[in-house]
Amino acid sequence: MVASVPKPGYKMKLTIGVLALQGAFSKHQHMIQVLGINCVEVRKPQHLQECDALIIPGGESTAMMNRIAFIGLTEPLHQFSLQKPIFGTCAGLILMAKEINNHHITPFGWLDITVERNGFGRQIESFDTEIFWLPEQPQQVRARFIRAPRILNVGEEVKVLAEFKGEPVCIQHGKFLASTFHPELTGDLTLHRYFLEMVEV
Ligand code: GLN
Repeated sequence: MVASVPKPGYKMKLTIGVLALQGAFSKHQHMIQVLGINCVEVRKPQHLQECDALIIPGGESTAMMNRIAFIGLTEPLHQFSLQKPIFGTCAGLILMAKEINNHHITPFGWLDITVERNGFGRQIESFDTEIFWLPEQPQQVRARFIRAPRILNVGEEVKVLAEFKGEPVCIQHGKFLASTFHPELTGDLTLHRYFLEMVEV
């Protein structure tokens, strides 16, 4: 259940894309639409052309990267990243990282972070919790961790936006936003709202 109402002031003509190859994309779409913004599924390179920003959802990072390569999206995504904001959650964050310490895929490298895949444990160890959201006056945000990656290192230009037990779980690096957890599954719109504000700038 999504409890919040749209914040007035977003440019209603924005279009946000959500990479819809694999994983938890439909709930992201719902969150963006609840905020009154158009959201389209991205399955082919040409779909990126209509997007002002993109969400890369959680799922399974190897499967997602293989699908991306198979349909010829690797280079179009790199081109997109040069100009437009991207928000990655969980597997999305893994794909966007510069370094993965325990995985064989080559990530996009847009975020100056090192991550450990499944750093918060296996599927059976998934959990819901409150995390500390720092940008406004520190507040608690509900978050779901599902086979979540752990952020081991952040570069100097990386801003930590949320912490759990003193560790970064949501970060911003320039026009890139990423969380180790699933913000789309709890009904809390804080991160999606923050991302839309990044797109507006
Ligand atoms: N551990 C998964 C992976 O490596 C990510 C889990 C998720 O996105 N919920 O791809």
